[in-house]
Amino acid sequence: MTFHLLVLPGDGIGPEVTAQARRVLDWFADHRGLELEIEEGLIGGASHDRHGSFLTEDIKSRARAADAVLIGAEGGPKWAQLRSGSGPEARSGLIRLRRELEVYANLRPIRAFDALAGDSPLKAEVIHGADFVILRELTGGVYFGEPRGIEELPDGTRRAVDTQVYTTPEIARVARAAFELARTRAGRLHSVEKANVMQTGVLWRQEVARLHQAEFSDVTLENLLADNCAMQLIRDPRQFDVIVTDNLFGDLLSDGAAMIAGSLGMLPSASLGAPDTHGRRKAIYEPVHGSAPDIAGRNAANPLGAILSVAMMLRHSLALEAEAGRLEGAVEAALARGLRTADIARPGTATITTQAMGDGVLLELEAAR
Ligand code: NAD
Repeated sequence: MTFHLLVLPGDGIGPEVTAQARRVLDWFADHRGLELEIEEGLIGGASHDRHGSFLTEDIKSRARAADAVLIGAEGGPKWAQLRSGSGPEARSGLIRLRRELEVYANLRPIRAFDALAGDSPLKAEVIHGADFVILRELTGGVYFGEPRGIEELPDGTRRAVDTQVYTTPEIARVARAAFELARTRAGRLHSVEKANVMQTGVLWRQEVARLHQAEFSDVTLENLLADNCAMQLIRDPRQFDVIVTDNLFGDLLSDGAAMIAGSLGMLPSASLGAPDTHGRRKAIYEPVHGSAPDIAGRNAANPLGAILSVAMMLRHSLALEAEAGRLEGAVEAALARGLRTADIARPGTATITTQAMGDGVLLELEAAR
């Protein structure tokens, strides 16, 4: 069956890393019988420059029709001033597309790669063997809550409002995804909120406990306050198996946890919706990082987060577990051979370009064929 993929490279380093992910996809089409039909389109600043909107109706309908969407990154200083206010353009195209496709379960796997152990800013003996998933709720919470906006007050000062809001169905569906994921792993779940100071945290904790008791008592559940979780991730990341948390905390905690993998550029993600009657789920695959304007256009970005997002696509949308493992193995082999983009290199050691890292992964795929 042909797999229809919509690719949206976006802005900054997005097109650079996506080009390497596409080369990997082409390799699987040429050598592993993957039947792919790929369309490309614009999102973010690139879309705004051409069409006056970060996310057009055309891209929305093409994304709805696709089997999956692969995204690079979007945004940058050029478009930052367009983001204030309360209209649709105040939100990034990517955030709106996530909501449009209702991909509420954002899986962010984090692993300490053996080959990078000595290169992380964190001590090798602390991170060695760390392997967990942050499951971030992606379509609710403070990024979407209303009211929001900036208003002028009668005394001439201004006031900004964001609204953190969650309903029990929103909490239950992401918690269910997390319990199910934990069952396929070591069976341990940390649920992370701030029930000590936030009402959404209180409701989150109650709803997770209800589901745990009703259906998932075989999974070990621990509640953790988000500030403590940030500290525990650095102190002892090996204690975690699956972490489930809201949209904002998931955003922050996963960027911090990226240093366990060595760099933000190493982290892939999969954003999945509810299964339909055939078990198919809407899906967006994208590296966790942003458009990195500070290094854009220099062929210096690490493409491994984007390439590992392709592995997640093979696993979650195509059920090709062995092919996903083949690709992850090729990435590890390239790292073990010493290939390093600047973000994962020790100061003073040789670095390679985005393109050369893509070459290195393709070489390892060939070698293992
Ligand atoms: P960023 O993730 O773009 O970059 C943070 C730091 O990490 C930078 O120093 C950057 O050089 C480095 N970095 C990120 N990805 C890298 C890679 N693949 N290889 C090497 N180094 C990498 O975050 P930011 O600088 O805070 O945001 C820049 C823009 O990206 C903003 O407009 C922001 O809104 C947007 N953003 C987009 C997404 C997304 O599209 N998913 C996510 C986060 C931020």
